[in-house]
Amino acid sequence: MFKLKNILFSAALFLLVISAYAGRSNETLSDTTSQLQVFQRTLKLMGSRFDLTVVAENQAKGDEYMDLAIAEITRIERLISSWDPNSQTSMINKNAGVSPVKVDRELFNLIERAIKISKLTQGAFDISYASMDRIWKFDGSVMEMPSEEAIKQSVAKVGYQNILLDPENGTVFLKKEGMKIGFGAIGKGYAADMAKALLLKHGVTSGIINASGDLNAWGTQPDGKDWMVAIVNPLNKNKVFSWLPVRDQAVVTSGNYEKFIILNGERYTHIIDPRTGYPSKGVRSATIFTKNAELADALATSIFVMGVETGVDFVNQLKGVECIIVDDDNKIITSENIALKGIETQSK
Ligand code: ADP
Ligand code: MG
Repeated sequence: MFKLKNILFSAALFLLVISAYAGRSNETLSDTTSQLQVFQRTLKLMGSRFDLTVVAENQAKGDEYMDLAIAEITRIERLISSWDPNSQTSMINKNAGVSPVKVDRELFNLIERAIKISKLTQGAFDISYASMDRIWKFDGSVMEMPSEEAIKQSVAKVGYQNILLDPENGTVFLKKEGMKIGFGAIGKGYAADMAKALLLKHGVTSGIINASGDLNAWGTQPDGKDWMVAIVNPLNKNKVFSWLPVRDQAVVTSGNYEKFIILNGERYTHIIDPRTGYPSKGVRSATIFTKNAELADALATSIFVMGVETGVDFVNQLKGVECIIVDDDNKIITSENIALKGIETQSK
């Protein structure tokens, strides 16, 4: 089980968005002893900012590796996008209540793992939350509180138990008409894992795939030092509070400060409690540390729904998973194996 005991956090802070390895994006850092260099590229993929970092012998190799990662992330986007009407995911949604849809084994397996996480989190995480996006839109179009009736009707379509998988035929069937699945809470993590796996296969010894604060890092910097991940103030993203070393690890943050709506002076975040149909409350940000970004992504979202107490107790029961949660009063709560020095936290 990994430990984060010795990490030094310096400032008294409001956490957190994680951004990998500095805002040094256009620089190339070289190391004379090993010849290896760091190459970085920032671009928009899956509707989000991606920062790619790879270690390579030269610019040409670095470019080749980054192109591979980009192609892989683009491929995944096509598979899981709910916006692309031709994606397999859209086909599943279109055929809700009508017929099973045959999909690639990769998508089938992803859905199967998502259902496992739903079971693990007792329904806090649920890819079938997506029918709620007819009620809760975060594009500025929702001006008043949706009616209780509308929420009730919409939440009736939510429920991972009604996602039926047929392993023999490789089909997915959403039992209820109007049901929908979406990968907003797991897709970026999955893409980061897959891009990393592909680069490893191509012999890339070290790098970071950072999907807007959902990142997976492997190897070390050319000089043998660990990669450092910056913890920044969500109110001022240029301000780095602290650096944290990561080695072969995913770090994923979900926050309520980017996608939300204000109704009657209250903030409603984009993470919905699938059991009530209302946006979750009480958590400002949740950061998960574990081996893979897909699981970390799903768990960070789940913590919002579970709330602080249940969320941290839940993480404490999982081997190899740690968390830092910031609640609505800016209190920082950590799982058992995280010690933050110099700031007031509660460990449970
Ligand atoms: P971010 O990285 O944007 O902070 P998350 O990884 O937590 O966010 O994903 C939030 C997205 O997940 C929402 O925008 C929505 O698409 C989807 N979502 C919302 N509620 C749930 C839920 N309970 N289970 C699964 N997915 C959800
Ligand atoms: Mg998530």
